[in-house]
Amino acid sequence: MTSPVTDDVLDAAKPQSHAFEADVAKLLHMMVHSVYSDKDVFLRELISNAADACEKLRYEAIARPDLLGEDPAPRITITIDADSNRLILEDNGIGMTGPDMAETLGTIARSGTKAFMDSIAAAKGDEQTQLIGQFGVGFYSAFMVASRVDVISRRAGQDEAAIWSSDGLGTYTVGTVSADEAPARGTRIVLHLMEEAKDYAQRYRIEQMVRAQSGHVPVPITLKDKPD
Ligand code: ADP
Ligand code: MG
Repeated sequence: MTSPVTDDVLDAAKPQSHAFEADVAKLLHMMVHSVYSDKDVFLRELISNAADACEKLRYEAIARPDLLGEDPAPRITITIDADSNRLILEDNGIGMTGPDMAETLGTIARSGTKAFMDSIAAAKGDEQTQLIGQFGVGFYSAFMVASRVDVISRRAGQDEAAIWSSDGLGTYTVGTVSADEAPARGTRIVLHLMEEAKDYAQRYRIEQMVRAQSGHVPVPITLKDKPD
């Protein structure tokens, strides 16, 4: 006998909505409303996270070589989708579970960002926007150019994949995605570019930024023009 599908079962599959930690909400508000001229730094931050994720996998794989499976070489792929105004970064690094994403993309865990928040509290107006460039505020800088960010990820060695999604306006959702919608391992970050940031969906622009900002990154970076 099959059991009926109840509302509970359906709800369990629905993405769960969470509020950002107060400090994150403050930081995001600043990002979204920033007039900061060097918004280009978002790409440097996302590439550096992708490279960190590849390095974390390499380290974990020393004890657990099975985590590398048939895909041992680290890589970062940037897909420029001008038609739909999206920029997509994908890495085959360590990946994140849903709870990982709620933990690391909903709070200000790292000390660098805390120091930034303290400095910002003491600064005003123009000074604040200069600080954004000085500190390198990490993942949240994506919201300087994107009106929505989706993070689809699969932790190395796990079957389940998860999606984190936010418009940067106070809440984010975390839910599950089917296996074929996620990278086999690692993280895909989809930036739905703001109208005024459409320029970042141009190949020449991204090429120039990668060369200028991320030449030292120890993981090969490939540019593509369309999603698969
Ligand atoms: P930091 O890189 O200094 O820790 P970020 O704000 O740039 O701060 O990133 C926050 C955290 O989110 C990272 O420490 C990491 O745990 C997680 N993260 C971000 N991007 C990725 C990614 N591509 N793969 C795996 N984890 C990631
Ligand atoms: Mg970072």
